[in-house]
Amino acid sequence: MARLFVSDVHLDGSAPEATAQFLDFLSREAAAAEALYILGDLFEAWVGDDDADPHKVRVCAALGRLSSGGVPCFVMHGNRDFLLGAGFSAATGCRLLPDPVVARFGGEEVLLTHGDALCTDDHAYQELRTTVRDAAWQRRFLALPRARRELLANEARAGSRAHTARTVPFIMDVNGDAVVRAFRATGVRRLIHGHTHRPGIHEHQVDGATAQRLVLGAWYEQGSYIRYENGVFRLHELPR
Ligand code: MN
Repeated sequence: MARLFVSDVHLDGSAPEATAQFLDFLSREAAAAEALYILGDLFEAWVGDDDADPHKVRVCAALGRLSSGGVPCFVMHGNRDFLLGAGFSAATGCRLLPDPVVARFGGEEVLLTHGDALCTDDHAYQELRTTVRDAAWQRRFLALPRARRELLANEARAGSRAHTARTVPFIMDVNGDAVVRAFRATGVRRLIHGHTHRPGIHEHQVDGATAQRLVLGAWYEQGSYIRYENGVFRLHELPR
């Protein structure tokens, strides 16, 4: 039986094709799998566990069917949906994973992370990340009325688009030294992340050993997932 990994599905009402494709993925590939790992940015935005976007509600219901059908589903926060909380977890049966986390697959330890923490060249973003991951900031935000939170989330997304448009591309990719530090700190030789929307498989030299970094793609134009089976990790595209 396979274990599947996805990230950066970026679901919301403006992406009905992605929602339909992901629901299809849940009912086929994921339903036949041993476990599903969602490594951040499942949703384009998440303003709190009272988020009422009908597309997201449908996806949550499908995740609930998957987990109650016997497929454990693990969800990590991304930089868009870092407010997924206990209410989401209770409604879907998904277990929230810390970022980063080391998980064991067939005797091998693998580092799983969303990937934004590795983009250390983007100083403006890292500063924002520190602010919004602060528990007191999150408590203040979640205490606002939902309409106000939605407005602020829309403003944040517009700001993020403007930042992305004026930042040179290499700054928004992972920093090679940060990747090597992560390998060294955890002692693993394989890392899976998303966030950069640059699907691929890379090799890094860490203290004389070769380590592998698998990068999941975003679901904007097509699907992307990694399948682990019998000791082998494979990156797949899902054409739409
Ligand atoms: Mn991301």
